[in-house]
Amino acid sequence: MRIDEALAQSARLEKLSDSARLDLELLLCHLLEKPRSYLFTWPDRTLTPQQQEAFMALLARREKGEPVAHILGYRDFWTLQLEVTPDTLIPRPDTETLVELALAKLDNGDYRVADLGTGTGAIALALASERPAWQLTGCDRVAAAVALAERNRQRLGISNAGFCQSNWFDALEGEFDLLVSNPPYIDPQDPHLAQGDVRFEPLSALVADNAGMADIQLIAEQARHYLKPGGWLMFEHGYDQGEASRRVLAQCGYSEISTEQDLGSRDRVTLGRWPAAPGTGVENDVE
Ligand code: GLN
Repeated sequence: MRIDEALAQSARLEKLSDSARLDLELLLCHLLEKPRSYLFTWPDRTLTPQQQEAFMALLARREKGEPVAHILGYRDFWTLQLEVTPDTLIPRPDTETLVELALAKLDNGDYRVADLGTGTGAIALALASERPAWQLTGCDRVAAAVALAERNRQRLGISNAGFCQSNWFDALEGEFDLLVSNPPYIDPQDPHLAQGDVRFEPLSALVADNAGMADIQLIAEQARHYLKPGGWLMFEHGYDQGEASRRVLAQCGYSEISTEQDLGSRDRVTLGRWPAAPGTGVENDVE
């Protein structure tokens, strides 16, 4: 079997995956220990019998639905390669929108930043790697996620981030200049939960009550106690939750509220500043 013939097997994944060809490229690169450019440069190279057998075994796992990131044990996010396990959400390219917005808000000053529900540590580690002067805290309710994020931190040699087990804000102390989160936001009734890669991810990282808005609501309310004056809250949400997210922030008294779009031009991140600008009558809403 040649490299191009191996990749042509992607036809077997068309129904399952909307990135069938890429899936196979990643599996083959992993097996051959080569960059993707190698596959395009040497399409007619023949796999050894052992490579072919190993490739077909990986393909069979993918055909059963197992996500590529679980088969490989890692996923690229931002500029980082992150270990991934079934204990957390698999980092998604959409979430790089949140990273970009956070970087655009604050320069490389001496800032405290927290990532709520950090999972693999993706957001916290991406921010820490770009802003060496920031101090990042990533928290997660799930102990296995905290351990995974810490392994990722150590392997990447990132020293300005730390992780702790915490149900949202419960174990956090002090005030932050910026709070970021990719919380669960899928409606428990959403039929997509029964399809594709999400079936292999923990529901606790995906699903929230109140049509997916429950954790966003909780974070927006509690974040007010953990933001420095003028600090920012920004979180990811579903493409159809921009309006509801802005409403939650407005009701909680945030100012400078806006929703930003991902690379596919879908509403993806909403942000606001605490407290509201003086004179709006809501700035003394809490405490
Ligand atoms: N964007 C993810 C999806 O639609 C959900 C991520 C999340 O719930 N935070 O699969």
